[in-house]
Amino acid sequence: MNKAIFMDRDGTVIKEKPGTYLCKPQKVELYKNTLKALRIFKKKGYKLFIVSNQSAIGRGYFGKEVVKAVNDKILKLLKPAADIDDIAYCPHAPQANCSCRKPAPQMGLKLIKKYNINPEKSFMIGDKKSDIDFGRNIGAKAILVLTANGRKQKAKYGKNLKADKITSNLYSAAKYIQKQSL
Ligand SMILES: [Mg+2]
Ligand SMILES: [Zn+2]
Repeated sequence: MNKAIFMDRDGTVIKEKPGTYLCKPQKVELYKNTLKALRIFKKKGYKLFIVSNQSAIGRGYFGKEVVKAVNDKILKLLKPAADIDDIAYCPHAPQANCSCRKPAPQMGLKLIKKYNINPEKSFMIGDKKSDIDFGRNIGAKAILVLTANGRKQKAKYGKNLKADKITSNLYSAAKYIQKQSL
């Protein structure tokens, strides 16, 4: 079986202005140490997945082609460090009550099946409680990063976050994971 790192997209892999929806590929910006983090994951033999809620589609702000263009740009920027094995996203608005919007586990469960992943040896990393809950819902360890929404989420939920670990950013999460013997 394989092991994997599931990563949230906005506010975790790339910069996010909370409350805004990224619709222009040229506006994509990685965090300073995103590539260094991915190199660590690859070296440790993890499959890499991005799992993202993109409710702007369901809210009617823009279409799937916009998300695809942004995702293609992200893959291109990440390529020097690693190829991402798969990207999944939920296109629905929150009130649609779909089965794929994080923290619902569906996006993760599909990837686990498709890539023969052992969730117990895998991690979910994100900047929101919904990412942490998603990680737990798929049976993986969950790390909150304090980039983007992370700090406010930590203050809002405190112990109710139930994160296995809280780190400053994706790179410090990678260094933490590197030290685990999973
Ligand atoms: Mg996020
Ligand atoms: Zn959905």
